[in-house]
Amino acid sequence: MRRLYTLLALACIWAAGIWSVVTPSAATAEGETVYVVQVGDGLTAIARKFGTTVPQLVALNRLVSTVLQPGQLLKVPNRAGVIANATSPAAVPAAGGSKATAYRVQKGDTLFKIATRAGISVAALQAANGFTGTNIRVGQRMMIPGVPAVAAAIPTAAKPLVPVAPVVKAPPTTAAPAPTVVPAQAAAPVPTTAAAAAPAIAGHGSAVPWAYVGEGGPTRWGSLSPDYKLCDSGIEQSPIDVVNPLKMGLTDIIFKYAATPGKIINNGHTIQVNFAAGNGNTIVVDGILHELLQFHFHAPSEHTIAGASFAMELHLVHKNAGGGLAVVGVLLQPGAASAGLAPVLTSVPTDVDVAHDLPAPVDLAQLLPADRRAYRYPGSLTTPPCSEGVRWILLTTPMELDTAQIAAYTAVYTGTNRPPQPRGVRFLLQDTSVTK
Ligand SMILES: [Zn+2]
Repeated sequence: MRRLYTLLALACIWAAGIWSVVTPSAATAEGETVYVVQVGDGLTAIARKFGTTVPQLVALNRLVSTVLQPGQLLKVPNRAGVIANATSPAAVPAAGGSKATAYRVQKGDTLFKIATRAGISVAALQAANGFTGTNIRVGQRMMIPGVPAVAAAIPTAAKPLVPVAPVVKAPPTTAAPAPTVVPAQAAAPVPTTAAAAAPAIAGHGSAVPWAYVGEGGPTRWGSLSPDYKLCDSGIEQSPIDVVNPLKMGLTDIIFKYAATPGKIINNGHTIQVNFAAGNGNTIVVDGILHELLQFHFHAPSEHTIAGASFAMELHLVHKNAGGGLAVVGVLLQPGAASAGLAPVLTSVPTDVDVAHDLPAPVDLAQLLPADRRAYRYPGSLTTPPCSEGVRWILLTTPMELDTAQIAAYTAVYTGTNRPPQPRGVRFLLQDTSVTK
């Protein structure tokens, strides 16, 4: 009988929600995050916790029932300060909230043990990892929802993260697929050997470290972590050697690029410039709008043209509303100074994982040649996890930068090129339209 009353009460709350529909846009304008429903949670309590209302939660999640299951994922408004309270250990010890920490399954672990240590339910753990079974294996990577303090108490990985050093020198490997070459200094039997070899596996965050040379180099990426297995088993990997493209007239890619402020960061693998969400720089490719996220460099170039490599390669990474990526590659060769890259290459940071404001906005249009025809093919990220489904747009016309600009990058990173990967049965198109 008590259950019936509860259901009736919930039905009334739900009905009230429908009749007093409040547009969720006010609540979601500041962003959303995902909350994992805990045992004993109700919509009213969750709404109060996140400073929203039941009708807004119903609308935001398009709920058809107000009965929640433990482990269910709910979108909640991500208001500054509110999330912090909801996920603080003192306030809600077992709250899921937006934070999650990577954990590698150890010998003797069970789902129940992991969930208990993290102070969450098995259902929440399953939901956060997208499976319903209970079989786990040693070495498997799992995301543990919960407060960082709780998750941090759990051992994360067998392999400790090696501090990142900003200088990774390597013999330039162009078309030769032999990146396991040990850095020259590693062979020298001097006390600095270990220190010099350490940067070979450089990483940051919770991801498994990887590198361009040595043990963590490109031919080993696929075995460094289950997350990186596509680096080995993928069949649409990038970069490729551009040879015998299928020439045809293609619809123009529409670039909308303007002068934009950005943050420059040395991420331990390359120099990257990040742009804020909603920066307005977009491309339309295959009729799909993609927004610019960031650009970064490789030296020498990752793509080769009939076996020939270039001094550097610029990658402009874009994302569409569905999460799909489109990368515009620009081959860079020695010549005149690049005005577009001036604010970037005069402020290359050597401290790792620290974002710095650029001294001036980057005039993104100046990074592109006037002729924006391109080679196009389906490929992947050229760094772990080597995710596929990336639209590659490699502009056929290289751009120039001067030797001082090249040196500004190569003084910090060289040999940051994954070797060309098998093209397999993929089509490689070259746009020959003359409408530019
Ligand atoms: Zn890249």
